[in-house]
Amino acid sequence: MSEQPGMPSTPAGAAVTDLPQPGRVEPVVARTREELHVARRALTDGDVAVVMTMGALHEGHATLIETARQRAAHVVVTIFLNPLQFGPREDLSRYPRTFDSDMEICRRAGVDLVFAPTPDVIYRDGDPGVRISAGPLGNVLEGQARPGHFDGMLTVVAKLFHLTRADSAYFGQKDAQQLLLIRRMVRDLDFPVRVVSVPTVREADGLAMSSRNTYLTDSDRETALCLSQALRAGAAAAAEGPSAIRRAARTVLVREPLALIDYLVLVHPYTLEDVPEWYRGEALLAVAGRVGTTRLIDNLPIKVGPGGGALEVFTDVDSAGV
Ligand code: AMP
Repeated sequence: MSEQPGMPSTPAGAAVTDLPQPGRVEPVVARTREELHVARRALTDGDVAVVMTMGALHEGHATLIETARQRAAHVVVTIFLNPLQFGPREDLSRYPRTFDSDMEICRRAGVDLVFAPTPDVIYRDGDPGVRISAGPLGNVLEGQARPGHFDGMLTVVAKLFHLTRADSAYFGQKDAQQLLLIRRMVRDLDFPVRVVSVPTVREADGLAMSSRNTYLTDSDRETALCLSQALRAGAAAAAEGPSAIRRAARTVLVREPLALIDYLVLVHPYTLEDVPEWYRGEALLAVAGRVGTTRLIDNLPIKVGPGGGALEVFTDVDSAGV
């Protein structure tokens, strides 16, 4: 496995947004299936990792890319704002689009290939009649608040697995339910890809990085801190068991009436069911709420019981390397 990729060849028709500079490898940009196919075929010497994004890249995405870069010979980043996973009243039209700075992050992180298609490239025949169903795990928590979201997400993730033919894929713990459902899809439908989870990247004050943080006003941003503070308070009570964890987290949230909390749950990492009071082991403490006009989510993997506390990612599922 070579750590430094060679200069990827630029396929005919693929746009290169900048001239190569010494010490930096210019990613190939593919916009169409044909361009992707040609550029992907050139990535022969070693395994290929994919990092799927909706653009508006930040340090969280950069960390996914860098982790992939350290472990795979080649990194493909997809930038695609997937209409299928947005509901009619959601923020598709105002979602930030920052392609030039996204490219700068990809360039710095040593990405080989950026696949940035438009919806008509991904959905050639319009709305796809056949979709992946997330099943019951797609109807709780985020799925309850966003009907159809996880079916749309899994459908595009499945398509991007096929189109990029990646050996491994890196996803953020930040979107815990998404990560779980992708692991389930890969396992249940035998996708030949290894899923790797990457811990949530946070601002210095604890706020989980998100492309949607750009919607927050200064005072919203202050309010939003209660989410990560609640999770930390919950984790600090981990040794005392589930009800102490939930109580500690809730105590922080009720002090912030401007955050309209949708849910705060302590659930089993695979079933997403509330863990009972006797439960000891790994659990997901997850919170979602609206601050100003913005819906925010955050979570912490927690070890419940003696010596418990916050984890970066779930150790069981990760070592299983589903
Ligand atoms: P998005 O562009 O929001 O769809 O996210 C693309 C990928 O980046 C997903 O795997 C996310 O879980 C991951 N991601 C987003 N924010 C963070 C973060 N703060 N820390 C780690 N991963 C993140």
